[in-house]
Amino acid sequence: MKAVLPLFIFVDACGWEIIKNDPFARDVAPNRKRLDSVFGYSSACVPSILSGRWPDEHRNWCYFVHDPKNSPFKSLRWLRWLPEKITSRRIFRRWLSKFVKVQLSFRGYFDLYNIPFKHIAQYDFTEKKSPLQPGGMNRGPNIFDFLVQRKISYHVSAPQKTEEQNLNALISDIKSENIDFAFLYWPALDGLLHRVGNQSPLVPEKLRDYERWIRQLLSVAEEHYAEIRLYIFSDHGMANCDVLLDLKSKIELLPLRMGKDYAVVYDSTMARFWFFNERAREQITSTLKGVPQGRILPESELKTLRAHFADGYFGELIFLASEGVLIVPSHMGERPIRGMHGYHPRAPHSYAMLCTNQPEIPEDVVGITDTFRLMTRDAELAAMRNSTPERKAYEQPSLVS
Ligand SMILES: [Zn+2]
Repeated sequence: MKAVLPLFIFVDACGWEIIKNDPFARDVAPNRKRLDSVFGYSSACVPSILSGRWPDEHRNWCYFVHDPKNSPFKSLRWLRWLPEKITSRRIFRRWLSKFVKVQLSFRGYFDLYNIPFKHIAQYDFTEKKSPLQPGGMNRGPNIFDFLVQRKISYHVSAPQKTEEQNLNALISDIKSENIDFAFLYWPALDGLLHRVGNQSPLVPEKLRDYERWIRQLLSVAEEHYAEIRLYIFSDHGMANCDVLLDLKSKIELLPLRMGKDYAVVYDSTMARFWFFNERAREQITSTLKGVPQGRILPESELKTLRAHFADGYFGELIFLASEGVLIVPSHMGERPIRGMHGYHPRAPHSYAMLCTNQPEIPEDVVGITDTFRLMTRDAELAAMRNSTPERKAYEQPSLVS
């Protein structure tokens, strides 16, 4: 039996609005708090949680950037000759993404989404490493570097496994009493919310599944650890998409050529532009100013959101859709989906949450980046208290008679 297990359970897209009026995990983690999210998608939020730093520090923000010099996708250009009927299909894209991921030895999450093959050699993908591993950040350390450095043994979920497989892997590590820290990652609620929106009865149903798993986990953990410090938390919420915005058609009406005058990535809530001449900058800027379903984010606001990049790496101009507006078709998808995140962090459905069995949540824990401090604090506490008298004795053999 060990003294303490810090148990961090990350439920993707389980926003404050999702649980606000739901009894989710109240019996095991009654202390709840709404947390500010980070501007961006999971590609920005997850690394921010894992490092306690902001996108302008760790440089894990949006997946695709215009960077023809460093593009690893040159070998895919021939695919532009295949009929779009085939190459725009999700099943084909998924299969190809898996193949490309192995070929390019990408270690994180990778999807080609809906990036057109005609232009793919102009883009680079920014998450080549896995943020769920030590050394996985684009810049600086994460929680796993912290744990390795201090020789604190830990468990972390493997994204290629199912939620239940990850649950069982953790249960078996708990039984072995080999770990002093656990990070469990459940991504399926995010996928469900994208599909069915935040009002579907399937959402509370999924929360009940999670509660059952959490209880199962706790009942095993209680047999092996005297104290379990439980934290259930998320990265963002999910807004229903009731308005569709075909931004691409508006831009393509302009007498400008993609790749020659400008480059763009249409994310589902953002459009990020790079300009190669003033004419393109002026025409695109004035077109975007006439789109009422969103707005251009000024530099000062991007700086406040800690997502301003002076080198324009992620785009020289960022257009952000209002909450509930889905940019479609986009480079993320050809067809509409019911729910989306990646809106302004102050939009109601962007807020994340933290539920814990700890009586107090420190006052300075206000945003998802602050969960990092809870993780480091509890990991150090567990490492200290779990270092058993036997181990201490072993380390100091003179004390053993
Ligand atoms: Zn998502």
